[in-house]
Order: sequence, then structure tokens, then C-alpha cells
Amino acid sequence: MTTPDPSVPRRRRIAFVLPVYHEEEGIAAFHEALTTTMAARPDLDTEYLYVDDGSRDDSLAHLLKLREDDDRVTVLSLSRNFGHQIAVTAGLDAAGTADAVIIMDTDLQDPPPVCLQLIEAWEAGADVVFAQRRSRQDTRFKKVTAHAYYWVLDRLADTEIPRDVGDFRLMDARVVAEVGRYREKDRFLRGIVAHVGFRQEAVLFDRDPRYAGESGYPLRKMLSFATSGIIGFSTAPLRWISKLGFAISFVSVLLAAYVFGVRVFNPEESVPGWAFLGVGMFLLSGLQLIMMGVIGTYLGRVYAEAQDRPLYSLQLAARGPRQDPR
Ligand code: UDP
Ligand code: MG
Repeated sequence: MTTPDPSVPRRRRIAFVLPVYHEEEGIAAFHEALTTTMAARPDLDTEYLYVDDGSRDDSLAHLLKLREDDDRVTVLSLSRNFGHQIAVTAGLDAAGTADAVIIMDTDLQDPPPVCLQLIEAWEAGADVVFAQRRSRQDTRFKKVTAHAYYWVLDRLADTEIPRDVGDFRLMDARVVAEVGRYREKDRFLRGIVAHVGFRQEAVLFDRDPRYAGESGYPLRKMLSFATSGIIGFSTAPLRWISKLGFAISFVSVLLAAYVFGVRVFNPEESVPGWAFLGVGMFLLSGLQLIMMGVIGTYLGRVYAEAQDRPLYSLQLAARGPRQDPR
């Protein structure tokens, strides 16, 4: 084995993780556009890791065809449709020794030229470079719901998850390794990446309309994905239970004061028994909610344990005798 000559810098390798679901019409155009863009950086090695997410159309055949003509193409095919987040995870797991990974959609909504900007920011020292949408060409409904969703997520999530950011991003190898340690089943990757930390930067871009075919994210999938984001990064809904409990108990105190007032100052108006019923009802439901909140607090902890996330990620470890740079 020859030892590498340190004076010749090692070529850096970028792996593209590309989830594919029913993209037979556009996939060839996508690959063409991406490789044409990357031809601007002949100093970098590239691997195009396509993950077919159980498409029932001819996407897989198209991918294998791409591989015949271009040996930088890798094709993984999942045994059924597992969903975009899992498909991307499978790609990340397979990225191996790449120096950086870029995740992007294969419907040309994420414009390939933006990759060059992501790579530049990475070369300037960022560990995660996410592509943030300056504008998007989606339906009005999608725009409004997305906006509302990010507003809610911003307020609820314990981790700061950048808004208007999809999964289009570059991650340095060490971030990929850390993300790979998060094995939770219900995955919200953009949240996980935010949780991991490191130096994260944004690059603004304008999102294009879909090239061909239709969105693999119907409303039902969108809703379940949105829920994953909130539930995965916040236990606030559990805490609301006890807050509500305290509020209702407080109402019972006010009511008791009112009842007392009527009894003392207006005895002829008071109906026998109503005080007991009215106050008791509020007091009891308040107490019940407080107790459910207590259970919720423990449940939140059990949930966090069950997620089994890494406790921390190291950015640097400097120990042992120092080696002076020659
Ligand atoms: N996708 C996937 N599995 C799915 C749905 C979508 O791998 O179950 C891929 C799809 O091929 C595309 C990306 O994920 O590359 C984004 O999906 P899509 O464009 O349908 O979502 P939208 O842009 O409408 O949110
Ligand atoms: Mg799309």
C-alpha cells in the first residue's frame, strides 16, 4: 500500500442523497441538470445516491438506466413506500465516507445550481448549510398552511427549527454521523439536524414549481408529517393539561367567593345546594386535569427516554500531548 502524498490534497467527495417516488417523467431531466451543474466543480468527486421509495411506476427502471450510463450513480430501492424521511435516512446511512452530503428533491423543485452555493458555504467553514426558501411556487393553500405551521412550530418546539427550510441542505460528514445516531422511528429530519447543532448557515433561494408528475405529499401525509414535527420536538401539549387544570381550579375559587357573597349579602336569592354542585364541578374537573398533567409530565419523560437521542454531540476534543504543527 502506498502512503498518500500529503502535498497533494485529497480529492473531496460529495454524496447526493436523492429520494425518488413516482418520478419517472422527470428523473432523467433531473439527473442531467444536476450533473451539468456539478461539472462546474471538476475538483470534487461526486456520488449520486438515488433511493427509490417503493415507487410503483417505472422510476426504478429509469434509475438503473442512469446507472448504466453513469457509474457515479448508486441506486437503492426500498421494499415498499416508507415515506420521504425514511428514504432520505436510508440514503444518509449509505453515504459512507463522503466528506459532505447534499439532500435534495428529485422533482427539480430544488434548483441544482443552488448546490454550488451550498458547497461554497461549506468550504468556507459551515457544517450545515440549509437552503432557505425566499419564495415558492406552490398553491396558495400550501403557502398559507406552511406559514401558519412554521409559526406554531416556532412557538412550541424546544429546539429552534429554522422556518421555510425543507430538507434541501448540505451536511458535513461529522454532522451526518451525528444525525445517524438518532434512530427515532417517527422522523422529522430538519428538527434532528437542528438538534444536533454545529455551525449552521442559510443560503436563500427561490423554489421552482414541480417539473413533472404530482406531489407525493397529499394533505393526509402533510398533516401527519406536521404532527411529527411538533410532537417530536415539544412536550408542550402535555404541559397545557396542567395549566388548564389550574385555570379551572381558579375558576372554582372565584365561584366559591361569589357564592359566599350571595349567601351573606343576598340570602333570599341563594338556592339550596347549587353552591355545592357548581363549585364542586369546577373544583373536581380542575383537580382531575392537574392530576392528568402530573401523569403527562412523567409521560413526557418516558417519551424522551424512548426516543433515546444521543445526550450530546462533540464538536472538538483536544486532549493528550499537543502535536505542534510543523
Ligand atoms: N418522495 C419520497 N417518498 C414519498 C413521497 C415523496 O421519496 O413517499 C420524494 C419525491 O420523489 C421528491 C421528494 O420526496 O423527490 C419530495 O416530494 P414531493 O415533491 O412529492 O413533495 P412536495 O415538494 O410536494 O412537498
Ligand atoms: Mg416537490
